[in-house]
Amino acid sequence: MAVDVAEVVAELKATYTSGKTKSCEWRESQLKALIKMANDHEKDIIEALRSDLNKPEFEAFVHEISTVKSSCKLALKELRRWMVPEKAKTSSTTFPSSAEIVSEPLGVILIISTWNYPFLLSLDPVVGAIAAGNAVVLKPSDIAPATSSLLSKLLGEYMDSSAVKVVEGAVPETTALLEQKWDKIFYTGNGKVGRIVLAAAVKHLTPVILELGGKSPVVVDKNINLEVATRRIIGGKWASNCGQTCVSPDYVITTKAFASKLIDALISELEKFYGKEPLKSLDLSSIVNSSHFERLTKLMDDEKVFGKVVHGGQRNKTNLRIAPTILLDVPEDSLIMNEEIFGPLLPIMTVNKIEDSINVINAREKPLAAYLFTNDKKLMDEFVGSVSAGGLCINDTTLHLAESSLPFGGVGGSGMGSYHGKFSFDAFSHKKAVLKRSFAGDIAARYPPYTTRKLQL
Ligand code: NAD
Repeated sequence: MAVDVAEVVAELKATYTSGKTKSCEWRESQLKALIKMANDHEKDIIEALRSDLNKPEFEAFVHEISTVKSSCKLALKELRRWMVPEKAKTSSTTFPSSAEIVSEPLGVILIISTWNYPFLLSLDPVVGAIAAGNAVVLKPSDIAPATSSLLSKLLGEYMDSSAVKVVEGAVPETTALLEQKWDKIFYTGNGKVGRIVLAAAVKHLTPVILELGGKSPVVVDKNINLEVATRRIIGGKWASNCGQTCVSPDYVITTKAFASKLIDALISELEKFYGKEPLKSLDLSSIVNSSHFERLTKLMDDEKVFGKVVHGGQRNKTNLRIAPTILLDVPEDSLIMNEEIFGPLLPIMTVNKIEDSINVINAREKPLAAYLFTNDKKLMDEFVGSVSAGGLCINDTTLHLAESSLPFGGVGGSGMGSYHGKFSFDAFSHKKAVLKRSFAGDIAARYPPYTTRKLQL
């Protein structure tokens, strides 16, 4: 292994113990350095994302670079306010006293990141960890090697290397990192590895945030603005990294009566976006590697979905491209309905009544996101009240992520813990309870001997 991970952790621990990372000035300087790094190297970042995912420049800029900068800017604007101890109420039990909740950094954080938004999902948690005053090791995904290597180079140049380090690598390196004692582990990726991370954390009683995935449903009611709805479904599915997004619409539920109208509208909008030969479109990302390409073609070629493709299905193994593909009425026990798709395939399930969609969703593992398109206030309320998911977005897809006032994270099989905005600061802070008393008002009744008279007080 190229790096001695125990040595890396020891160095960061020493920096943290020195108190350097706790000052507001240090935190601000690091956040400013991240913005400068993103500005100075915008072209290099776009190029790395193109090399890893063939990500269109627009998506690279809007979904990754600009989002990281916004997170830094928000933290810079709010940091001093977030750091102020929060006054808490006191009661007659402790009178006279005052109480406050102090946000204290946790120490040394391990961030393990994934490949689909390799710049954003590596740095967004780093922003929170730094803002909260911690030292950090970032382990980017080996499946996005160009971005991983660029992050390693740039963070080394721009950040305080005694407190922020990148360790590149795959399973052996991550395994070695997970053997170390951390003050928190933040992991983004699939649930199978999430369980490995959680098991490793148990040994040291380390708290963990797991940002996982799942099958995020989209319920489409009738009597909606169908053109806007289809554009927004396409926006969250194909125009976001070609479906390789954790909150991407995984499957659609609509009524039997409405399905053909919805499919026609999706096809018509898809052709406007990507033309009649989508495999040639420059606006569609590629599949990240050949093993994911094979995984996705297996989902399409499963004999249980034979004849169910109503649009798309074209693929090019050489350049790892798959066209936007729609399937109708696939069986519940098909492969595509039993794993997260994470690619450009969209199965449409039909139900008799739109209200039945809620039971369909709730019969499955809790998803990371759930979407509903409707104008029916009663259905909306029922959906919000009964569907359990990491987050909901009504009449759009994925955009709840963009709201920094909302926590982003999963529930059940889609993860634990959340971040974004102030939630990121809180995710990497310990909320320390502080009660301050004076020497006045000491009551003898609380001390032994515990006489009968004291019990009656
Ligand atoms: P991945 O293969 O890059 O794995 C994630 C990280 O785990 C990498 O850093 C990798 O090196 C490490 N890793 C892989 N195998 C390991 C092992 N055996 N032991 C230790 N570490 C290991 O990414 P992925 O898992 O393919 O990512 C896709 C998944 O992530 C999807 O399920 C998606 O929904 C989810 N995701 C979630 C979010 C979120 O914010 N909730 C965001 C993006 C992706």
